Amino acid sequence: MADTIVNTQLLIGGQWRNAADGRTLDVLDPATGDSIGSVAHATKADMEETVAGAAVGFEAWRNLTAWDRYVIMRRAADLLRERADQIGRIMSREQGKPLEQAVIEINAAAGVIEYFGEEGRRLNDELVPARAPNVEQRVLRRPVGVVAAFTPWNFPINQIARKLGAALGAGCAVIVKAPEDTPASPAELIRCFCDAGIPAGAVSLLYGVPAEISEYLIAHPVVRKISFTGSTPVGKHLAALAGGQMKPVTMELGGHGPVIVCSDADLDAAAERLSAAKFRNAGQVCVAPTRFLLHSDIAPAFIEKFKARISALKIGRGLDEGVTMGPLVNERRVSALTELVEDARQKGAELWQPATPLPNTGFFFPPTLVLKPTLDMRLMQEEPFGPIAIVDEFTDLSAAVQEANRLPYGLAAYVYTSNERTGRVLGEALEAGMVAVNHHGIGVPEVPFGGMKDSGYGTEGGPEALRAHTITRLVSSQHA
Ligand code: NAD
Repeated sequence: MADTIVNTQLLIGGQWRNAADGRTLDVLDPATGDSIGSVAHATKADMEETVAGAAVGFEAWRNLTAWDRYVIMRRAADLLRERADQIGRIMSREQGKPLEQAVIEINAAAGVIEYFGEEGRRLNDELVPARAPNVEQRVLRRPVGVVAAFTPWNFPINQIARKLGAALGAGCAVIVKAPEDTPASPAELIRCFCDAGIPAGAVSLLYGVPAEISEYLIAHPVVRKISFTGSTPVGKHLAALAGGQMKPVTMELGGHGPVIVCSDADLDAAAERLSAAKFRNAGQVCVAPTRFLLHSDIAPAFIEKFKARISALKIGRGLDEGVTMGPLVNERRVSALTELVEDARQKGAELWQPATPLPNTGFFFPPTLVLKPTLDMRLMQEEPFGPIAIVDEFTDLSAAVQEANRLPYGLAAYVYTSNERTGRVLGEALEAGMVAVNHHGIGVPEVPFGGMKDSGYGTEGGPEALRAHTITRLVSSQHA
């Protein structure tokens, strides 16, 4: 396994293959913009064979015992941990994130797979006491079938691990449509499952034109559930397609994370943790804090501490020693952020960026503070999905809550306060699927991970995520 990205293939019916017509897409190094490899581009024939293989794989996987499925998932997680450094180098190269962050992501993904494998062993049927003495009411939880999982490029491995883990743990087969921008590291994750002995077709891997693949898979009768992580507009489109087919969905969509920093907050801790959470993965994180609502008593002090943290970031190629922030994933993201910041500037925002120059190749974008925002700015409505922090002030906590809840998004929200009661009150009041007080530890596999409002529905953590891949059925029997 080398650092260079070779041609990434499709996994169809347990076989690694090129596309039927040999077509490929280019893969670029976001730190330089240079081509570093290619990825197979699935044709309709490839999709047809993938679904046929998944139907066979589903029968094989569901008929294993929960224990045997766990053993294979556990082995895949162990292989992923063993290979974390090598796969991390591939991920850093194709996605841009610092190597250390890539390795952390891969180890976290191993934990997710292990958790769902274990949770699958506890997926119990139930006996519900009957009203008549000779009736037995059995509630069965059975895997929903073949799942189509669509995942983005920001966490090329962990986004797949959450979907794959929950679906496989429940006994489903999964067709993964992984991101074309960052294809090689997902393929290495899937290889761990193959090497761990998963039956052919229980996991498949496709790349190509996202809309072509999603339209084909969502409409196909063999596919019984859809799971998507990405932007809200695409999520709504896919949920509508799935609704037309009466298929359940899990949607993990965009966010516009508010963070309320109260006047009694520990400002050193807040500046340290918020800068880590904001600039991790160059801000390309659905749960990143975005709107910083600062109590006016502490706003100047917090901003100074936050700027100092930003100035200490080392921006560069993810594989270079000591780098703490890499480039954005592609040119499209640089253009999108440039437009949003320019719109804010024209509408009167004050901008602050650190003095250190950026590398002059690739898709870099500087950490940016947007001060004095007004509601007419696009940034106050649209998810930036990059290293941009919008900073505003409040004096009345209820006004801060109102601003936090203003947008249709509701994914993650944060609070910094030293008052436990304030933390609990805001935990209830903020309209977000996840609220964290004084820290950012919301990603562990055993707790819910998901949003409300336009940020989607369903959860990708905890036992609920597994249950979302089952059908609950009743068998009620009367015996003499
Ligand atoms: P995009 O909306 O074009 O694509 C987002 C993701 O959806 C990509 O992985 C893409 O392959 C996939 N996609 C797009 N159209 C699809 C379709 N018809 N069927 C199936 N999959 C489809 O945006 P982008 O430029 O790649 O990313 C920018 C935006 O995406 C960000 O602003 C952010 O809101 C969102 N995003 C969110 C997450 C997340 O973790 N929630 C991750 C990545 C991107």
